[in-house]
Amino acid sequence: MARIDVNHIRHSYLPNPKKDSDFALKEVHHTFEDGGAYALLGPSGCGKTTLLNIISGLLHPSHGQLLFNGRNVTNLSTQERNIAQVFQFPVIYDTMTVYDNLAFPLRNRRVPEADVDRKVRETLDMIDLASMANRKARRLTADQKQKISLGRGLVRSDVNAILFDEPLTVIDPHMKWVLRSQLKQLHRRFGYTMVYVTHDQTEALTFADRVVVMYDGEIVQIGTPAELFERPRHTFVGYFIGSPGMNVLPVALEGRTAMLGSQRIELPGAPKAEAGPVELGIRPEYVRLGREGMAVSVSKVEDVGRHKVVRANLEGKEIAAVIGEDDEVPTEPRVRFDPAGINIYADSWRVEMGA
Ligand code: ADP
Ligand code: MG
Repeated sequence: MARIDVNHIRHSYLPNPKKDSDFALKEVHHTFEDGGAYALLGPSGCGKTTLLNIISGLLHPSHGQLLFNGRNVTNLSTQERNIAQVFQFPVIYDTMTVYDNLAFPLRNRRVPEADVDRKVRETLDMIDLASMANRKARRLTADQKQKISLGRGLVRSDVNAILFDEPLTVIDPHMKWVLRSQLKQLHRRFGYTMVYVTHDQTEALTFADRVVVMYDGEIVQIGTPAELFERPRHTFVGYFIGSPGMNVLPVALEGRTAMLGSQRIELPGAPKAEAGPVELGIRPEYVRLGREGMAVSVSKVEDVGRHKVVRANLEGKEIAAVIGEDDEVPTEPRVRFDPAGINIYADSWRVEMGA
């Protein structure tokens, strides 16, 4: 397996890109450590597939370099890079049996037939298709075909990295969960470098040790699931991760106080906000609803199982608060913000709180 350095990579699909918005990848500079399990998370169109295809060699970047274990591979073919890639939709040989589909990448590399058989059977068990080994792939359902695709990505153990591009889209929810757990086990057992692309935060947070969040052609934050939750670096990460997402409110700073309309909110420190509009971010889990604090008017209470989400209006702004499933909304509701959950943003980027 390999360490992958993405060095100042920019990519445009246009022949003569000029402005930033002509680039599908604005500038990506990041190291995927050898043996790391990464999720690449972001909304549709933010550049996830573009980045993955640049790593595998399906695309040549407009600018920048790609290194595997320190070696420049930018001009090497997909084959020479020795990467396994699983796509969103099945890529299989319809006329071959399930078994032969899985054996193909190994036989292609002249792996001895006894090893082929062992690896193929192991993989068949993992994707739960052992009973269909001798069936022609053409006769399988769409999600079975996708499992073969996944199996083809996992069958070789000599690859530099395994890249997954939203591989479970066509798989039913229960099987999704099973396969994701197996991928995670596989990672623990063999220590593959894995990059898993998804737009689904649950998928990203359960699969990866490190989540790389992308937005509009850029990486906006790399962190553990806990870091992304507690300290979103960009307001986009705050909105995108969490359900509901972080509350983001326009404020004015006065030392250790944030003014939200006529309300004064004491901060844990004096933020060093320099340029751009200032906002206060607080997750609904840190908004305390009770009889003390700032007056709000409640517009809606949603029961979502283990807790309730309260939608309220504070100083003309919509905010969400999470309360326990047995908690009630007081008749004259007020909210307090737990200082531990307060983040301050200037021009959408988090600023340090300061002393
Ligand atoms: P994601 O995988 O995150 O949904 P993509 O990497 O597929 O995003 O796309 C990033 C941007 O590049 C989008 O604006 C998309 O329209 C554009 N794009 C992707 N593929 C092509 C292509 N082959 N030609 C032109 N533009 C493309
Ligand atoms: Mg994509």
